[in-house]
Amino acid sequence: MSEPSQRTHRTASILSIGDELVIGQSLDTNSKWLSSRLTDLGVRVVEHATVSDEPDLLRAAFERLVSGVDLVLATGGLGPTADDLTRDVLCDCMDDELVRDDRQHERLVELFRRRGRPLENGNDRQALRPASAVCMDNDQGTAPGIAATLNDVDVYLLPGPPHENRPMFERFVVPRLRTDPKRAITTRLIRHYGIPESNAAVALGDLLDRDRIERGLPLVGITASDGVITTRLRHEGDPADASALLDETDRLVGERIGRFRISPEPGEPPSDEDLVELTVRALKRAGHGLLTAESCTGGMIGEAVTGVSGSSSVYHGGWVTYSNEHKAAHLGIEQSLLKQHGAVSRPAAEAMARGAIDRSPAVFGPDGARPRHALAVTGIAGPDGGTPEKPVGTVWIARASEGCGAVEVESRRFVFPGDRDTIRRRTVGTALAMLLLRLRKKPIERLLWEID
Ligand code: ATP
Ligand code: MG
Repeated sequence: MSEPSQRTHRTASILSIGDELVIGQSLDTNSKWLSSRLTDLGVRVVEHATVSDEPDLLRAAFERLVSGVDLVLATGGLGPTADDLTRDVLCDCMDDELVRDDRQHERLVELFRRRGRPLENGNDRQALRPASAVCMDNDQGTAPGIAATLNDVDVYLLPGPPHENRPMFERFVVPRLRTDPKRAITTRLIRHYGIPESNAAVALGDLLDRDRIERGLPLVGITASDGVITTRLRHEGDPADASALLDETDRLVGERIGRFRISPEPGEPPSDEDLVELTVRALKRAGHGLLTAESCTGGMIGEAVTGVSGSSSVYHGGWVTYSNEHKAAHLGIEQSLLKQHGAVSRPAAEAMARGAIDRSPAVFGPDGARPRHALAVTGIAGPDGGTPEKPVGTVWIARASEGCGAVEVESRRFVFPGDRDTIRRRTVGTALAMLLLRLRKKPIERLLWEID
């Protein structure tokens, strides 16, 4: 038997339980959601563990996790079937015995009566709990949650389905959290474009030291995704100090890689917008419109842009022109140009971008016809079709922009590394980045993966 713990919840680990998670049949989204909530609430999540429904492994996982943190949240394996063993294994670890929770038992009897079924076939097991633990009501399903203590660490068992465990977390776990009011976690994201991750790491240098957190300074981490370098500043401590400390670290990051910053802009509040959202917002702010002419991405740029709510005010439309005939018929590209240079070439990409502008009706805003930008992409996504001069991953991206009566065109050649999906994703990101950098008037000589 164990007494409830009184410790402050500074650190937590999350355990996701289920064969379906470890064999790759379903994706563990519970850890992501719970971690983000705990982080918001000021609890530092230090580990995610995923384990199959195997009792010995489950037992080892509980024992290991409680040895290092103040709080463990586990999801899954509370159901009625023989492989749902979470409560039994935890009870065993606690040296406790399973008892029937009369209130939960009554609730289950009533629930099944309303469904016109008797409480049987293991369903009654869901009313069992370790004697020293308490049950948490499940308003959305059958299995109640369990709040227990193992080795003086609070352990919460939550049901697997997200629509059941999220309300239970809010209703039962959050009010029971004992966070340190002087130790909140505040994060700030800064996004950069055009610098390779390793160069960013070298430039940031000692700002990436892990011991900054012990010195009371915000921790700085970098992640790279399709060319966007995200610097995450994380302050852990008295929330009253957070803003000034984050501002100072933000300034130091700016000193080192500020040239490549795309968000937040000077004087703007920090945001977590991604590249597409930033581009749509920049177009909106400028009052400009966007057109697309896509070959190797088959409409993915249009798809990405229209995924942002409110994009209708900036995105007019586009063409997917995959074959040479379609490029010629719909964007007016001379067959001779395609024959001479090939579809994956600077002239083809530029002609596609110009063609998109020429063939789109003007759109009028309050100040007259709106300036429009067209993004055109043409490339070899592979795995077949590469040649020594144009290897797989070769993509030409052209941006045509209206302004002062003329159309200005910029085109660049890239060789994107990766498989077909990655090459296409990187093409989308890079095309949007070329537009965003233009809208921000941030010339960058050579972009990531660009080839002269
Ligand atoms: P039930 O009463 O539904 O059986 P349970 O607590 O036993 O609840 P599981 O049987 O382990 O939960 O999982 C039920 C369902 O919950 C899974 O099929 C899956 O859809 C979802 N689920 C479980 N674990 C996770 C997870 N880590 N992330 C996202 N979904 C999950
Ligand atoms: Mg299960």
